[in-house]
Amino acid sequence: MASEIEAALAATPSDGPTIFDKIINKEIPSTVVFEDDKVLAFRDIAPQAPTHILIIPKVRDGLTGLSKAEERHCEILGRLLYTAKLIAKQEGLDDGFRIVINDGPDGGQSVYHIHVHLIGGRQMNWPPF
Ligand code: 5GP
Repeated sequence: MASEIEAALAATPSDGPTIFDKIINKEIPSTVVFEDDKVLAFRDIAPQAPTHILIIPKVRDGLTGLSKAEERHCEILGRLLYTAKLIAKQEGLDDGFRIVINDGPDGGQSVYHIHVHLIGGRQMNWPPF
């Protein structure tokens, strides 16, 4: 079983602190590629492609995963996707890229702070599973 799936199955879905809080607070290092007042984007520690970036809201506001989204989250959800587009341009992914949001154990989610994966720099497969 892939280590990402083992991590997902070992993760407990909860609204508690995650490793991403420490990254936001700069308590642990990360390679930041974009930051503004609402969003932080940094390189994944275990990249699945030449470019693999995580885009997260700085304030989680209950948004542990997409399945917990409520109407008040629409603005930040749009901002995460728009930021992904900006970063794709910044990274030179002119031939395309993939956006992934894993949700829950079946979706392979291991960190319960919503995040958009921006993956690119190689040909993607379809179907993705
Ligand atoms: P998920 O499996 O929840 O969709 O994605 C979580 C992602 O966070 C994984 O791709 C994993 O490699 C990444 N990740 C976990 N811990 C860290 C960390 O400490 N630093 C960075 N940069 N990425 C991390």
